[in-house]
Amino acid sequence: MDTAVVPPLRAKDYKSDIHPVWCPGCGHFAVLATLTKAAAQLGLRKEDLAVVSGIGCSSRLPAYLDSYGFHGVHGRALAAGAGLKAARPDLTVVVAGGDGDGFSIGGNHFLHACRRNMDMTYIVMDNEVYGMTKGQASPTTQSDWTRSKLTPHGTGVRPFQPAAIALAAGATFIARGFSGDPKALTKLLVEAIEHPGFAFVQVLSPCQTFQPEQKTWKEQVHPWPQGPTDDPVEATRLIQLDDGMAQGLLYRRPHPVWRPEFTQRATLGEIEAGFYL
Ligand code: SF4
Ligand code: MG
Repeated sequence: MDTAVVPPLRAKDYKSDIHPVWCPGCGHFAVLATLTKAAAQLGLRKEDLAVVSGIGCSSRLPAYLDSYGFHGVHGRALAAGAGLKAARPDLTVVVAGGDGDGFSIGGNHFLHACRRNMDMTYIVMDNEVYGMTKGQASPTTQSDWTRSKLTPHGTGVRPFQPAAIALAAGATFIARGFSGDPKALTKLLVEAIEHPGFAFVQVLSPCQTFQPEQKTWKEQVHPWPQGPTDDPVEATRLIQLDDGMAQGLLYRRPHPVWRPEFTQRATLGEIEAGFYL
């Protein structure tokens, strides 16, 4: 019998040897670092962690981790993550991506992931812009943002409200973090991963290149006026008063986790045969 003691993993052990291609100063560096710290604090084995993403700057994240990862198609990260969790409930599934990927292309998946309450964590690195395609307005862009040539007079559309939508759709853990406060963000990610159910963490993660104004976010963030609530009415009240810069855990409520029951397992060949005409 092998009695060798395996030393606990350090945060840096979860990083792959691929160097991120993000711009210097991008907020996503801190999100990557905090996720590795959270994994180390939770004592996760690398082979038990799977990080699933869509498309965008932030969705490159799985490549920078030495865990299981899947870099999927635009807006479908939650669908892929849900499928993985259904097939392998033993894995810790973390889905990660950006505001465009998650709230526009993947908006429908976001709604249904919230109401389904599968046991996984969804991190949205929100910089209010499509960064990878060079700076177009996203669902969370402020309506008077004129930097993009595509919207020289602003979008004229009210920004998407992620926390409000998540609450209305039935999410059981709703939090907002800030990449400039890695200590608090690590704590939030630990709590999110530990939460039995769908945990949604919106992370304010500045885009230095296309939203340089976001440098001021570090002066603007502040805690929610009160600690987390399990009352959806109280959470609604706090969201209505929110200026978008409150950080911390807003809402956590116990609710049965949805887990599909498989009555039979089929091989890929058997599944394919079912589609033959
Ligand atoms: Fe980060 Fe913006 Fe650069 Fe993308 S374009 S890597 S979001 S700073
Ligand atoms: Mg974005």
